[in-house]
Amino acid sequence: MRKTTTLIKNADVVVTMDAKRAELKGASILIENGAIIGVGNNLSTADEIIDATGCVVTPGLINTHHHLFQSLVRGVPAGQDALLFGWLKTLYPIFQRMEGEDMYVSAQSGLAELALSGCSLSSDHQYIFPNDVKMEHAINGAQSIGVRFHATRGAMSVGESNGGLPPDSLVEKESLILKDFERVISQLHDPSQNAMVQVGLAPCSPFTVSEGLMRDTAAMALDKNVMLHTHLAENDEDIAYSLEKFGCRPGEYAERLGWTGNHVWHAHCVKLNSDEINLFARTKTGVAHCPCSNCRLGSGIAPVREMRDGGVKVGLGVDGSASNDAGHLLSEARQLLLLQRVKNGANSMRAREALEIATLGGASVLNRTDLGSIEIGKRADIAIWDITGLAAAGAWDPVAALVLNGPFNVRDLFVEGKPVVSSGRLANQEEGMIAHLHHSVRNRSITMRMILHGMTYDIGNFIIASII
Ligand code: ZN
Repeated sequence: MRKTTTLIKNADVVVTMDAKRAELKGASILIENGAIIGVGNNLSTADEIIDATGCVVTPGLINTHHHLFQSLVRGVPAGQDALLFGWLKTLYPIFQRMEGEDMYVSAQSGLAELALSGCSLSSDHQYIFPNDVKMEHAINGAQSIGVRFHATRGAMSVGESNGGLPPDSLVEKESLILKDFERVISQLHDPSQNAMVQVGLAPCSPFTVSEGLMRDTAAMALDKNVMLHTHLAENDEDIAYSLEKFGCRPGEYAERLGWTGNHVWHAHCVKLNSDEINLFARTKTGVAHCPCSNCRLGSGIAPVREMRDGGVKVGLGVDGSASNDAGHLLSEARQLLLLQRVKNGANSMRAREALEIATLGGASVLNRTDLGSIEIGKRADIAIWDITGLAAAGAWDPVAALVLNGPFNVRDLFVEGKPVVSSGRLANQEEGMIAHLHHSVRNRSITMRMILHGMTYDIGNFIIASII
């Protein structure tokens, strides 16, 4: 049986992310029943002691944007070099054939990868529900790893025949979408402060759902007190579509439909202009910044410096593994820093600010006031980074080192005071088994289903031809 108190003892530095951004040397953290009950240098002993000598301890990192099912379509050859819309059109026929097992396995492997990179809470934006797929599949995958999970029920309702991007066969009827929105909120959402699973509503993007569904979803989110999430202003194609189809920029479109506010966060926002940044700051609308995905799809450099200076809530997201292709949140913090420096100069983003966006920033975007810092009363989501290894050797500043040079994986990760990663290994699952399952599902299910459905699919250097 698990002990009730845990002492993370004698860390080289505890990066608290409290109001003063205090960094405590030689400090310890006392945990009881999932909560932090002590932080400092003279804490009493506990049932369980975790020695953090030679380690930097931070709040667990928070991922504010992902599509876990996409970890089954990493590096699909035909989409490797495409812009956003072309890339999506390449992937839609593959998405169409996914089943519940694919969702479970991809959630499990994607979240395992994130946990090893220090992520204690991940959101997920699942917007396809073909075949037998339900929200429960990904949630079960998350629970098997032990991370906190903010699942968002996405949707696509405007197919090609109505001027949308996805094929008609991959979109859902709006009445059924709204019905399932209600179902997942009532059955799966935990509104409490300590929640391990929360549910939000997330039509995929303005170019895949109708204006009516955007409005109805916003009304339901207010009524049910859940969060709203979608993609917005991702690249130039996105802006052009908005101007042509809606006669306005994405920020105005979002405001018009009730998609601004403290309960709303938008992914990407690479192309927000200064008026839209002011709108987001004024309305407390959050942004999930996904720097690697923006690089991979050539979308541009998001105005993170301007957003932060203007008072916009910004968190970090890895985005789906098809457009990243990695799911490593600490690397994302590094990429955020590098991109802002490319755009604005070397003094425009400090390593500590990147770390703040990856922790406290994510907590504020997801309205988790119980997370994001190491303080008495907060939940015990804590990452322990061993800085005695090669990646951090010679580092003069162990806190900045996390972003500038590594280590790249956590030694230990606690979520709600329970171990999710211990000594660099997953605590609740076997990494090799997850990888094996993921490979076999990808090979057997996706490829074989495509063959059975009479499709031709190019894998690397050889082509599986249609046999039916
Ligand atoms: Zn996305």
